[in-house]
Amino acid sequence: MEVRVRFAPSPTGYLHVGGARTALFNFLFARNQGGKFILRIEDTDLERSTKESELKLMESLKWLGLKWDEGPDIGGNYGPYRQSERLNFYRDVVKELMEKGKAYEVYARPEELEELREKLLSKGELPHYNREMLEQFNTKRRIEEFKNNGEKPVVFFVFEDKEYELDDLIKGKVIFRKGAIGDFVLLRSNGIPTYNFACVVDDHFMNITHVIRGDDHLSNTLRQMAMYESLNWEVPHFAHVSMILGPDGKKLSKRHGVSSVEGYRDRGYLPEAMVNYLALLGWSHPDGKELLTLEELIDNFSLERVSSNPAIYDENKLRWMNGYYIRNYDIEDLTKIAKKFIVDSQLCDEEEFENNFEWFKEAVASVRNGVEELIELPEKLKIYFEKPSLNPDDLKLNQELIEAYLKLSENIKKIDDWSKNEILRIFRETLKENRKLNKKDFYMNLRIILTGKTEGPELLDIVYLFGKDKVLKRLLTVESFKK
Ligand code: GLU
Repeated sequence: MEVRVRFAPSPTGYLHVGGARTALFNFLFARNQGGKFILRIEDTDLERSTKESELKLMESLKWLGLKWDEGPDIGGNYGPYRQSERLNFYRDVVKELMEKGKAYEVYARPEELEELREKLLSKGELPHYNREMLEQFNTKRRIEEFKNNGEKPVVFFVFEDKEYELDDLIKGKVIFRKGAIGDFVLLRSNGIPTYNFACVVDDHFMNITHVIRGDDHLSNTLRQMAMYESLNWEVPHFAHVSMILGPDGKKLSKRHGVSSVEGYRDRGYLPEAMVNYLALLGWSHPDGKELLTLEELIDNFSLERVSSNPAIYDENKLRWMNGYYIRNYDIEDLTKIAKKFIVDSQLCDEEEFENNFEWFKEAVASVRNGVEELIELPEKLKIYFEKPSLNPDDLKLNQELIEAYLKLSENIKKIDDWSKNEILRIFRETLKENRKLNKKDFYMNLRIILTGKTEGPELLDIVYLFGKDKVLKRLLTVESFKK
């Protein structure tokens, strides 16, 4: 049977790290098994769901490279893929459940249900609803009243109270003891299903074979299992992934300063680094390999290797990993990604960037070693754009060095073909002409004369990227030190 899994976000905000990991595990499992990865938008919370958030979620998933096979934007054989467009499915199933005596209408208003709950609690009882107590609301008068006002009843599910057993693909056997919950709502009075109900109906009609999601949904799984049973539907496999914890051992949240996937993208994380890091939050490679391409992740992914222990989020490791990817990325692609950061920091405008793309490629290559987030890049590139303020104290010039730099100027003037090879040849020639020169002093002072700094990219890169005119102009400044 074809494996079909789904990622089912509620479009109420950005794609967060936890959601991204869930999406990734579903994606990797589907690809590993040659199955289908489906995107379903769970927008039944009408007040909090927005189109903007749906678009952002999709954008973030695409950015991560997690392409879905069916979804609201591309369709598929099991659509629609937005719950708000599937209300007829839920209505039909409610009808079926009511006919089977597994669901019933309650003509109560939300505040009355709340009041009932409070009453149970104050009597020291479990706040579990049952049919007997709820159907008391269904008086003739009340039903009439609802009809006249155009109000609709709430539909409750008859929860069969017993022990339920789940064979979870990650957690192993999970036992839900009797007495944990009571009857619960399927359809709200506005005709909108609750998450648990819509989820079961959709997973069933979309032929979902494996439900891979966070273990914060375990208590929902109990409700969902009861519904599958009542409907005589085949239960999908469940795999509940453990939570991600912050370094303090508490559930990962904004408090830990961790941003959305979009937030990481905006700070210059590469999707490959993000995906690699997220995959290791709970899963591990059989050989303990940590730097893995998407292909390697797909080839090696299995639910058996997903730990049932919580994963600890370590932003330093993510940073380190991003640095690794930045250093090893195809330079053309990296420069294209870097464009936004460079233009945003106003080192140049878009047109200048495009017209000098080859130059920027070299410049990015020259500084990328020390960069872990692309947002740090413009600061490193500044030496190519700003006039250095020379601090005479940094310079340790003697007459010999000054003579050598003037000689270097002469030699540089003669270069026709401005290439790194030629520049290197000229460096060597100049040094050869004055054998007493200390090479280290020569290069260090040259760096300071050109950039005003004692460190930075390779000197050869600096000279090459500055270009002949700028190098000559800056070398001329040593004249003023001449005695
Ligand atoms: N909409 C639910 C959420 O965002 C989906 C849970 C599930 O995968 O069943 O948490």
